[in-house]
Amino acid sequence: MDEEHHYDLVVVGGGPAGSSAAFAAAKNGIKVALLEKENSIAETVRTSGVTWIKNIKEFGIPDDCFNPIKNFSFCSPNNEVMISDSVPRAAVLDVRKSYRWLAQQAKESGADIFLKVNVNNVIKNEEGDIVGVTGIGPNGKITFHSKVVIDASGFPSTLCKAMGFVSQWKRFGAGAEYEVKAENVESDTWWLMVGQQYSPAGYAWIFPLGNNIVRIGVGVGKPESDVDPTQRLKELMDSKVGPIKKLGKLTPIEFHYGLIPNDGLSRDTVFNNLILVGDSAGQANPLVLEGIRYAIKFGRVAGKVASEAIKSGKTDKDALKPYEENWRKAIESKINSAGKVQDRWIGLSDEEWDKELDIIKELNSEEFIDFIKAEFGLSNMVKLATHHPKLAVRQLFNLVKGKK
Ligand SMILES: Cc1cc2nc3c(=O)[nH]c(=O)nc-3n(C[C@H](O)[C@H](O)[C@H](O)COP(=O)(O)OP(=O)(O)OC[C@H]3O[C@@H](n4cnc5c(N)ncnc54)[C@H](O)[C@@H]3O)c2cc1C
Repeated sequence: MDEEHHYDLVVVGGGPAGSSAAFAAAKNGIKVALLEKENSIAETVRTSGVTWIKNIKEFGIPDDCFNPIKNFSFCSPNNEVMISDSVPRAAVLDVRKSYRWLAQQAKESGADIFLKVNVNNVIKNEEGDIVGVTGIGPNGKITFHSKVVIDASGFPSTLCKAMGFVSQWKRFGAGAEYEVKAENVESDTWWLMVGQQYSPAGYAWIFPLGNNIVRIGVGVGKPESDVDPTQRLKELMDSKVGPIKKLGKLTPIEFHYGLIPNDGLSRDTVFNNLILVGDSAGQANPLVLEGIRYAIKFGRVAGKVASEAIKSGKTDKDALKPYEENWRKAIESKINSAGKVQDRWIGLSDEEWDKELDIIKELNSEEFIDFIKAEFGLSNMVKLATHHPKLAVRQLFNLVKGKK
């Protein structure tokens, strides 16, 4: 028999955005269902898991969920730079542990988690607004009725597509990664590798997790390049180029693959009874294509706003608007600025990358972190663009400010 459920809020997708939305909404006292298609939360890992310790602390993620990083190394075909910090500011997450912790927070706050529920359609009312979802559950067809739905399904954006509000992302990053055991690992040092050999439109990386485990990956921008990241990764690992050689013998543990939107903040994210959050909303920093901290932060905002709207009995687009206003105010201008730097980076030749690293060398660790995080505070940028002792750095920050 078909299974049927009634909730105040249904959240589709048990990634960082969905679990965080379910947590905030349940904590605010409404009845929440979190639906995940896989057998367990984070069964498949689709991310490298780099984020920032400041954000980790803000979210309350426990210390045993990440490996701290304090040295940031870059290499291009003929150049190399390492920016070192006295304290670690970046981190590589144990993705499964962290995502399961986020889902556990939702559960402890009262959300019901349904696993093995693959949502494939929406239920609409007479006005054409969403009032629930249907899918295939462990026992066949399953239906969830709700006042508000949050689409946290990630790149596929299942619900907003089913509503006809959006089509497939046109510009995106495709990434392939091996988690491997390596012989020689500096556990507090990451590597970003740029230039045609590594990725014709993107970069390759080595992110350490501790215990001699590293994630080695390649990201390729689409449609800019038709290179297959999995193939390129295998070639790089076989030929052991650049810093991969220093790792010594590599024993693969697990393969990861994923897609991340890179279309800027092009989508509306609130509709009557519907919110988009995380990758389904395109909330990613385009400089290095990182979205986990935004997924958690704005997932919580989405859950809070949705639950307030439900309590007030008004869940149309206007009632959900504070969510969109909140995230746009926080990141829109930063992401637009970062997009300009990304446009510059995506077109660089090997020789130009060698020179770009000379510019990056001039940044101190704080400037570097702000830059790579796209934390472009305007006064900071104006200061750096006007007063940085190096002309090339002034030009880079002028670009961020919007000048040519
Ligand atoms: C190769 C790669 C490397 C990356 N590296 C980093 C990094 O180092 N740092 C960083 O911050 N970001 C990184 N990102 C981006 C980051 O992974 C995303 O921004 C983040 O995962 C977005 O979270 P989310 O919850 O929106 O989506 P997701 O993490 O994709 O979660 C979506 C969830 O929804 C579930 N789901 C999907 N469809 C359905 C359905 N129909 N029914 C039920 N459940 C469904 C999925 O199984 C999944 O659990 C990377 C991305 C890629 C592709």
